[in-house]
Amino acid sequence: MTAAAQARRRRSESELDIVCFERGEFTSYSACGIPYLVGDVVHDPQALVARSPEEHRRAGIDVRTRHEVVAVDVDARTVRVRSLAGGTETTEDFDQLVLATGATPVRPSLPGIDADGVFGVQTLAEGIALRAAVDAPRGSHAVVVGGGYIGLELAEALVLRGMTVALVEARSQPMPTLDPDVGALVADALRDVGVELHLEEPIEGFETEAGMVRGVRTANQVLPADLVVLGLGVRPASELAAAAGLAVGATGGIVVDDHQRASADGVFAAGDCVETFHRVSRRPVTIALGTHANKQGRVVGINVTGGDTTFPGVVGTAVSKICKYEVARTGLTEREAADAGFTVVAATVDAQTRAAYYPGTRPIRVKLVAERGTGRVLGGQIVSEEGAAKRIDVVALAVWNEMPVDDLLNADLGYAPPLSPLWDPVLVAARRVVALLGAARPSPSPRRDRPRTSSPRAPRR
Ligand SMILES: Cc1cc2nc3c(=O)[nH]c(=O)nc-3n(C[C@H](O)[C@H](O)[C@H](O)COP(=O)(O)OP(=O)(O)OC[C@H]3O[C@@H](n4cnc5c(N)ncnc54)[C@H](O)[C@@H]3O)c2cc1C
Repeated sequence: MTAAAQARRRRSESELDIVCFERGEFTSYSACGIPYLVGDVVHDPQALVARSPEEHRRAGIDVRTRHEVVAVDVDARTVRVRSLAGGTETTEDFDQLVLATGATPVRPSLPGIDADGVFGVQTLAEGIALRAAVDAPRGSHAVVVGGGYIGLELAEALVLRGMTVALVEARSQPMPTLDPDVGALVADALRDVGVELHLEEPIEGFETEAGMVRGVRTANQVLPADLVVLGLGVRPASELAAAAGLAVGATGGIVVDDHQRASADGVFAAGDCVETFHRVSRRPVTIALGTHANKQGRVVGINVTGGDTTFPGVVGTAVSKICKYEVARTGLTEREAADAGFTVVAATVDAQTRAAYYPGTRPIRVKLVAERGTGRVLGGQIVSEEGAAKRIDVVALAVWNEMPVDDLLNADLGYAPPLSPLWDPVLVAARRVVALLGAARPSPSPRRDRPRTSSPRAPRR
């Protein structure tokens, strides 16, 4: 819908017809808000809807909800559309096509997985159904399967609603997108609010009774469950594209160039269904995030209407609130950097969020990863009760601009006692990495070599 709205802004209804097929009932909603709807932090599902189908229609976009595209014929320039209300199928022509089919949640074919009481949280309709089950619970035991950020946000939401929550994760830590020294804090925070963690315990199936879920069977035990939430990750929904003969990469995402053009003329793709370029690992990746989807949608909306703009890739920035912590990462973790072939230096520091004497200061853990030799910042992870999510943006820009860590160390970041210590925790981590790198290297950045007498450049108008 971002692509459609952008295209509509650039072309009037007399110049361009825009038709959107959506198999669900909602458009332009924040899936990111589902955990807060379930946790009753947000009370009304409509609050998550930024633009309803009616609002899009009023803006000149012909949205047809409950319509599923079942086939694409790139040569004939047609799509086959099934009406989910009546079951009838029609063929619609197109000059240009935008595929934005999103992601499909992983749902292993385990015994009992289709029982009542086993919920996904990919769509708003699923979020509403889960909330209804929590509003009128059959019992007090909930099990969340999967320790990624969505599983963790949902575990916290269920605790907030008074349920006894167990979280089952096949790997050795929740939030496996963090290095273990930072991820350990997240595990502690979950335990602090009473989430029972079962790590390195892959699930084997679900116990049921009269079609209702009653338990989750792991390699070690059966956990009682009146309600189960699946948070096992997603994969790109690229089947429609693949069946149409469009290139799909080894990641499972639709292959697009930097203009979001797929492998056939006049066909674009954006969002969770595509693979995108990781600017640090230089590899194609699929990362299902609304931040990327919206930016790519804007690029498509411009290019589909004759513009010329690009999506330059991602550096893997992600933030989340897990119990008392803001959890943030960008670039590559130490483990990912090593996998990508970098020789790295990494430092983890424990600092404070405010001046030591200022009331309310909280501990903050910052990890920075840099390339040995060049000193280039490759990634960072930050966990704290305050100030982690915004501090990671500084590191994200350093990663984005391939900044050497000694430049980051000298970056002119703000300081006032209620807001940060004099040495911001990010700079403390940078200082530690510089020390590890052997420091005192001349910076490769020409900006630092500018003569002191040079006068500031006049602002461009
Ligand atoms: C619980 C949850 C929390 C999240 N939290 C965050 C967060 O905090 N930050 C963040 O950046 N991201 C977050 N995300 C991810 C973010 O929501 C997605 O990355 C984003 O919605 C992707 O947008 P999209 O348009 O590519 O896909 P979607 O929003 O999934 O839209 C795809 C649409 O295509 C429709 N569709 C698919 N196939 C067809 C077809 N054949 N015919 C017709 N319609 C079809 C689907 O019904 C769907 O409505 C979260 C996601 C979830 C589920």
